[in-house]
Amino acid sequence: MAELFYDDDADLSIIQGRKVAVLGYGSQGHAHALSLRDSGVDVRVGLPEGSKSRVKAEEQGLRVVTPAEASAEADVIMVLVPDPIQAKVYAESIAPNLKDGDALFFGHGFNIRFDLIEPPAGVDVCMVAPKGPGHLVRRQYEEGRGVPCIVAVEQDASGNAFALALSYAKGIGGTRAGVIKTTFTEETETDLFGEQAVLCGGASALVKAGFETLVEAGYQPEIAYFECLHELKLIVDLMYEGGLEKMRWSVSETAEWGDYVSGPRVVNDQTKAEMKKILGEIQDGTFAKNWINEYNAGLPKYNEYKKADSEHLLETTGKKLRKLMSWVDDEA
Ligand code: NAD
Ligand code: MG
Ligand code: MG
Ligand code: MG
Ligand code: MG
Repeated sequence: MAELFYDDDADLSIIQGRKVAVLGYGSQGHAHALSLRDSGVDVRVGLPEGSKSRVKAEEQGLRVVTPAEASAEADVIMVLVPDPIQAKVYAESIAPNLKDGDALFFGHGFNIRFDLIEPPAGVDVCMVAPKGPGHLVRRQYEEGRGVPCIVAVEQDASGNAFALALSYAKGIGGTRAGVIKTTFTEETETDLFGEQAVLCGGASALVKAGFETLVEAGYQPEIAYFECLHELKLIVDLMYEGGLEKMRWSVSETAEWGDYVSGPRVVNDQTKAEMKKILGEIQDGTFAKNWINEYNAGLPKYNEYKKADSEHLLETTGKKLRKLMSWVDDEA
């Protein structure tokens, strides 16, 4: 059974007694920095000279210094720069400014799990990973709510690393919703698997294949778009509220019967065997190695895939249709 922690289990004064550096001011960085500040924590943001995010952070009342200065000032350093550049930022700006007793924090375990960053023994190594996009983390905090977080300690040099991590999670509203204890290994491997096999990869591939099947059979792309992409949100909302059961309660009996008999033909034993292969490549480091190589090569394949999908009939049809639905926000 998972260990769960709420507001009463976390002591905010621990993080309020530390100096926190938030490196990066993107999706997660802005949410952590602003919410910690609003929770009474001493925060500085670390961004390179000339970074576009600098003005935004300053406008929002935060003090911005370089990543090296922030790391030198602080005794808790949260690394919220993109995963593929964390090792470089660590070597150049963090490592030279790490002292025994400092704590190194992450929002995702990638660099620790795959040994791209190897912190010294005298430093606490913790993770506070909100299970939601950064903009929601911030919005929920402002509304007095929170996004659930998962928290892990990889290295407990101080003997108090977990209490420190829980305190940090409280500072961004995480313990309002609930915090689950995990490990860097479990978080990294399940996060990568989930986004590849189900949430991003699996869902996009399913939508595309369904759309293509209908269009290739001569149906109108607009009809195929509504059926295979637009309606997915309504279905997922029901699953989110009440699991598969609530979704099946809401759809017609005909849809429910079709779900039982056809779903397992689409996602079948072969699909699951492929999922196991994907998980294996995550666990043995193959995915991480290939991704870092792709990133360092300047993202040639990444850009190719991105371009191909942006020109796909599913996307061009959707763009046109969403423009006509004023309540659907195409910007966010
Ligand atoms: P992002 O791409 O939104 O933002 C990255 C930020 O880092 C930007 O402000 C950028 O200006 C800054 N940056 C780039 N180079 C820098 C450098 N050399 N020094 C300092 N700052 C630099 O990133 P993100 O999506 O917020 O991801 C940050 C971390 O949070 C990652 O580890 C990611 O896996 C994790 N995470 C993200 C989400 C999410 O909602 N996006 C959810 C959970 C965990
Ligand atoms: Mg320091
Ligand atoms: Mg992820
Ligand atoms: Mg229907
Ligand atoms: Mg129906």
